[in-house]
Amino acid sequence: MPVEMDLAWQEEIKRDYPYQFPPHFTFECCSGWAALLREMCRRVDLALEPEDREHFKWSQIKEKFGTLRAYNNGPDVVEDVIDWAEAASEKTCELCGRAGRLKRKGWHAVRCEEHRDS
Ligand SMILES: [Zn+2]
Repeated sequence: MPVEMDLAWQEEIKRDYPYQFPPHFTFECCSGWAALLREMCRRVDLALEPEDREHFKWSQIKEKFGTLRAYNNGPDVVEDVIDWAEAASEKTCELCGRAGRLKRKGWHAVRCEEHRDS
């Protein structure tokens, strides 16, 4: 995974949904998934009852074997959102956010045509 120097996108998501994140939380993936992750957090926010929001936290959000994994302590209703996000990550270039596909040559990663060798 390339080193991600620009973390502003992470701060923006955490600023919009601060209750979902423990202190010093870091998304362990690249910025191409920023819009996808923002939408995931928005859908979780909509899915949770107000009393559930008090307790909900992401424990880890990362790329694994090329696609998104999002671990949390939420109720079952959140799982549908996670399923959607993980499926969407399989079709979204992790580097730029354009349409991509999972490549399995050498290592697993979702890349668009332009970033196919990155
Ligand atoms: Zn790309």
